Amino acid sequence: MKLNLILFGPPGAGKGTQSQRLIEQYGLVHLSTGDLLRAEVKSGSALGEQAKSLIDAGKLVPDQMVIQMIDQKLEQHSAGRGFIFDGFPRTVPQAEALDALLAQKGMEISCVIRMEVDEAELTQRLLKRAELEGRTDDTPEKIKARLEVYKAETLPVADHYHQLDRLYQVDGKGSVDEITARIQAVIDRVIQAA
Ligand code: AMP
Repeated sequence: MKLNLILFGPPGAGKGTQSQRLIEQYGLVHLSTGDLLRAEVKSGSALGEQAKSLIDAGKLVPDQMVIQMIDQKLEQHSAGRGFIFDGFPRTVPQAEALDALLAQKGMEISCVIRMEVDEAELTQRLLKRAELEGRTDDTPEKIKARLEVYKAETLPVADHYHQLDRLYQVDGKGSVDEITARIQAVIDRVIQAA
């Protein structure tokens, strides 16, 4: 059985950190559209040029851009055990495109794990990350913009997967280990039920 997970939650929820742990444990391929886009920006490609100003403004890049990137990665790794999608899908059209791409390959989303963290804590975590990683979009104004975009454009993705009966919630507050354990409990339940 393939395992295709979406780690869902606002910026700063810990999706990247948790993804790193889960890929090892379950042998999955990590697909973070944020990481892929930052690599494009760094490489100076035309796509990176186009994405840079949007990322720096805390806005989303066009759906078609990320869908194409994901499509390529799905092709490259479709023989594996499955994927963890991190920071994707971020809009309902992206979710619909992902569902269709997976269906073409005889796959589907196994579960969407929503990590809940309150806004004060998110802002604190992102400001700390700014010190450690120096991301250009981790400034107070841009964090605010990204949280607004999350609420307006990304939250409806949770409803989309709730309607498909694929949505699970975990408390995203606590130590990294505690949160990993909560996520693993969900994944193991999903695997057992399959
Ligand atoms: P992240 O590392 O996931 O927080 O993403 C950083 C930035 O990359 C976002 O604020 C967006 O500008 C862009 N980005 C990442 N993933 C997506 C996506 N799925 N759709 C649109 N824009 C994205």
